[in-house]
Amino acid sequence: MKYHCDVAIIGAGPAGACAGAMLAKAGVNVKLFEREQFPRFSIGESLLPQCMTFLAEAGLVEAVDDWGFQLKDGAKFLQHGQFSEFEFKHKCSEGPHLTYQVQRDVFDKLLADGAEKAGAEVFYRHQIEAVCGNTLTIKDLSDDSVHTIEPKFILDASGFGRVLPRLLDLESPSDFPVRQSVFTHLKDNLPAQFDRNKILITVHPDHQDIWFWLIPFSNGTSSIGVVGETHYFDALEGQTLEQQLFTFIAQVPELAELLKDASVINELRTIKGYSANVKTLCGDNFALLGNAGEFLDPVFSSGVTIALKSSSLAVPLVLRTLQGEAVDWQMEYALPLRKGINAFKSFVQGWYDGDLRQVIFYPDPMENVKQMVCSVLAGYAWDDKNNPLVTHSTRRLKALAQTCSGSQ
Ligand code: FAD
Repeated sequence: MKYHCDVAIIGAGPAGACAGAMLAKAGVNVKLFEREQFPRFSIGESLLPQCMTFLAEAGLVEAVDDWGFQLKDGAKFLQHGQFSEFEFKHKCSEGPHLTYQVQRDVFDKLLADGAEKAGAEVFYRHQIEAVCGNTLTIKDLSDDSVHTIEPKFILDASGFGRVLPRLLDLESPSDFPVRQSVFTHLKDNLPAQFDRNKILITVHPDHQDIWFWLIPFSNGTSSIGVVGETHYFDALEGQTLEQQLFTFIAQVPELAELLKDASVINELRTIKGYSANVKTLCGDNFALLGNAGEFLDPVFSSGVTIALKSSSLAVPLVLRTLQGEAVDWQMEYALPLRKGINAFKSFVQGWYDGDLRQVIFYPDPMENVKQMVCSVLAGYAWDDKNNPLVTHSTRRLKALAQTCSGSQ
């Protein structure tokens, strides 16, 4: 009976914690099963302002506001020594324009604690191992005991664990090539004039599909990472991950100069082949949240925003399902969620094929174009009322890129 519940959530990352908090607030008996003990490291440290709407819905925003994370008010891009800056306050969508750059061990624990405070139960070191109909098999990793549970509804928020996609054969390949990232945290010693309120995305001067993130935190440290197709890293075989990262950094004079006094303070990590898709985001008794569904690419920091949006969309539908209402999950969950994912996807495609970079680095952008791009960069990728770039975004980005290249 320890594990009896109406809704079981797999994973207590942002998607799971947010859904857990919202369901608990609505009076649902909800339990979260999390494989790790929190706090634990996670990548995905730069949030988008749209996130704050969903954190507020879940009652989790005060805890995040109070902690003292680094404020984030925009994004800065650097290519061949040229900077392009986006202030989120210039977006054309309604909603918050400020957010944070967060150490995810702290952030994820705050959210999971918030879900517990709202009345959800979180079981750490509990790994979901199998599913059959509504029955989940759970292993308690503290003593290897195995238990079953039969919730009325399952939310899979297992992120890169991709529990239900694996167990139910729902995986489908991503449209993107296999890319890799190597990353760590630095004591950054950035120059005093460096704007810590923005993520800095730097394009490699010779290989335009290699890029770096620099995400300053509030305590004088930063997250740094490099992203590229795996063959670039394979070519550095024999080097440690730290050597690989700094080999790439040394190839970008402006970034090397910025980081000349920085020192590594965390172990180096790498992740590859992270882009993933699924055949369906929902079934009769389950829905996939966040990364357990589709994951695109880290370049626009869309991961946590999509994760929280998925929780915000799914929870009211779970409530209706529990009340016995017939819910069309494809129409009411998968379709609306994919609308924003697809807008982000066009941006990611446009980044790598160069169309979006053309627009981002255009020296004299029209104000309304900059506002539209800014809105998506701020996470408002579902706002098709105010932003024409949300629908038909690939075609519209291409047209914009042609205009920019024609007038240069
Ligand atoms: P997660 O945060 O991954 O949480 C899933 C949880 O499920 C984990 O705690 C895991 O332990 C647990 N779990 C897994 N399997 C099981 C199991 N079998 N049983 C029980 N529990 C399980 N996003 C951003 O928003 N901003 C960024 O700057 C950003 N940078 C990124 C950089 C890189 C290189 C990559 C690869 C991703 C980046 N992302 C970023 C994406 C971000 O990491 C994810 O989108 C986000 O963490 C998804 O949240 P989630 O709640 O869906 O999953």
